[in-house]
Amino acid sequence: MNIILFGPPGVGKGTQGEKVASEKNLDHLAMGDILRAAVREETQAGLKAKTYMDAGKLVPDDVVVAMIEDKIVDSDASGFLLDGFPRNVAQAEALASMLAKHSLKIDRTIFMDAPEENLIKRLCGRLICRACGFGFHRQYSPPLKSGCCDRCGGELYQREDDREDVIANRLRVYQEQTRPLLDYYQHQEGFFKLDAGGEMDAVYAALNKIV
Ligand code: AMP
Repeated sequence: MNIILFGPPGVGKGTQGEKVASEKNLDHLAMGDILRAAVREETQAGLKAKTYMDAGKLVPDDVVVAMIEDKIVDSDASGFLLDGFPRNVAQAEALASMLAKHSLKIDRTIFMDAPEENLIKRLCGRLICRACGFGFHRQYSPPLKSGCCDRCGGELYQREDDREDVIANRLRVYQEQTRPLLDYYQHQEGFFKLDAGGEMDAVYAALNKIV
């Protein structure tokens, strides 16, 4: 089972995608996480990506396409879940030819959406564990001890690009470049639309049903 999850920043692709992937034994290929790891490791691609990411812009297609192809080819789980890739039509076209090359196909393409005011609230309050990457929210799912991860005790931080000015830019980039993917995918087999504006558990139940 191979899945694409796409939608605006803050819609819950990461949280919901991780849950589905671990339950179905799929590789969770989150493009943002892959890029942040490359930035931390100061690889050539990571150094190139950083300035784009800090500004809330898309990293050039050739960089992300090459990175995701490596991950797809290396995957030995019972499938993969793409979260945050593709993010524009050129990437979707590159993905289609990459999949054909490796005799793979996508079984579900799921578009998650929520009102913009929910997205902004979710992004502004988001906290991430520096050690294990687990996500919290200042209001909706605060850690038991302030600044400290419930799972591993690691330090919690706010992502550079979860600042209000950068969020505005990410949402603009989403409207201009990622939302057109809806036209690209919505008439293809296996396409589903998921209302992700509600409570986390209800959204997960709906997602699980689609999968
Ligand atoms: P995310 O963690 O999915 O919110 O992604 C964080 C940032 O990584 C984005 O704002 C972009 O700068 C970059 N990024 C993630 N996925 C892609 C992609 N498919 N294409 C280009 N840039 C991406």
